[in-house]
Amino acid sequence: MLLRRHGDFIGGVDLPDEKRETLAEPVRSCTLPESLRIPLTLTSAAPAEVVVTTGQSVEAGAVLARGGDDNVDVFAPVAGVVSSADASADVAGAWGLITVPAIELSDLQPPSPPPRSADDDALSGEPADLRRQIAAGQLTCFRRPMQPVAQWLLHAQEGGRALLIANVMENQPYVTADHRILTENGQDVLRGLALLARAIEADKVVLAVDQRRTDDYRHVVPLARRYNVQLVALPHKYPIGVEEVLLKVLTGIEAPVGRGPTAVGASMIDAATCLAVCRWIHGGYRAGQRVVTVAGEQIVKPANYLVPFGTPCEHLAGLTARSLIHNGPMVALPCTPNTVVTPATDAVLALAVAEPARPTPCIRCGWCSDHCPARLNVAELNDAFELVDLPAAHRADALACMGCGICSYVCPARLPLTERAQALRRALTELAPDDPPHDHANMSPPSRGVFGRLFRRHA
Ligand code: SF4
Ligand code: SF4
Repeated sequence: MLLRRHGDFIGGVDLPDEKRETLAEPVRSCTLPESLRIPLTLTSAAPAEVVVTTGQSVEAGAVLARGGDDNVDVFAPVAGVVSSADASADVAGAWGLITVPAIELSDLQPPSPPPRSADDDALSGEPADLRRQIAAGQLTCFRRPMQPVAQWLLHAQEGGRALLIANVMENQPYVTADHRILTENGQDVLRGLALLARAIEADKVVLAVDQRRTDDYRHVVPLARRYNVQLVALPHKYPIGVEEVLLKVLTGIEAPVGRGPTAVGASMIDAATCLAVCRWIHGGYRAGQRVVTVAGEQIVKPANYLVPFGTPCEHLAGLTARSLIHNGPMVALPCTPNTVVTPATDAVLALAVAEPARPTPCIRCGWCSDHCPARLNVAELNDAFELVDLPAAHRADALACMGCGICSYVCPARLPLTERAQALRRALTELAPDDPPHDHANMSPPSRGVFGRLFRRHA
């Protein structure tokens, strides 16, 4: 790895790693559930229009529903029979789990394995043609908030061309999905990153990884040199993998609140999306599965599994597990029986934690503010929440909260601070820009995220 000095950030915490069981284990295929529930939308965009009927047999990759301007088409991840065109599924939205319409697929046939390495380093064609080819794949970005890759390309090309960052920091406990993707498919990840860089005409490209894992990524170095991708190994202090923080560490620039990296000329992408783009462009293979870390003390066989989209999370955890959560423990959402795997599901965890203790009043210790990477006075935000005082939340910069979960994790009073800060942020976000935040009736209930609440420093 090319060693270069980069910045740091104030706040943050050094979390326990808890990755031993899955870090060095190759990705396995998972057993198929009885049925899949394939969501017709993954965002607030209108659901795709169903084009199959109940009882119809479909092949893997067949179109199940047509997306509109803001959405992608929905494909069958495996071959099967449509058992309901009127089902529903819970998926991780921007503010918590959302229930969306879905197609249920039964009598499932095992999927064929993804293609072997592309072995094609050609980067030919005009960027505009490449953008069209990538958009034709109807792929979705493999991270929250989910958005069509075509939309990501458009935003990145318009405002984020100066610096493209592939973010493989993955520094939440237990989660190793991106690490396994880069370890096992590093060259294709690099090829996909190079394709995206050419498509948006990026000036500079960086691959950021955890400095403890660089030995596993040596095989990507020759391709990184060929594609002029700068490899950067960074310390793992949490939440360095959060977009705003990583951007600040790499460039020293802070993105304006709520506007993301494109506001300062940068774009961010993940390893799984790069891999999917490579496989689509070089092999015509459209991803219908993703690598998911299934781990935690209640899991009998912790591992990374290749899981078809629409698989119920409960199926992955087995009968013994309770308290399932979706994504890493610091930003997790509790799984319902209807929660399914989507492109953004990097982990399904079953942690052996006690029930959350009852919160007690704030003792003004200041730990939450000391560790907050956004430098917020979190106790003041908590006061604003308890007093239902949106103007105070606005003055305390609730909009800058990144939802990282640290404040809940460190609070000795066990207050659900992250949920409260995010509820304030959501209430402020939903107010019209020309409507000053004065209407207390707009206060939303806390999001359903568990953030650091189930995974605590003092648990
Ligand atoms: S960490 Fe908890 S108890 Fe300490 S100041 Fe913050 S809210 Fe209060
Ligand atoms: S969740 Fe928000 S308020 Fe809490 S530590 Fe993270 S950025 Fe700060």
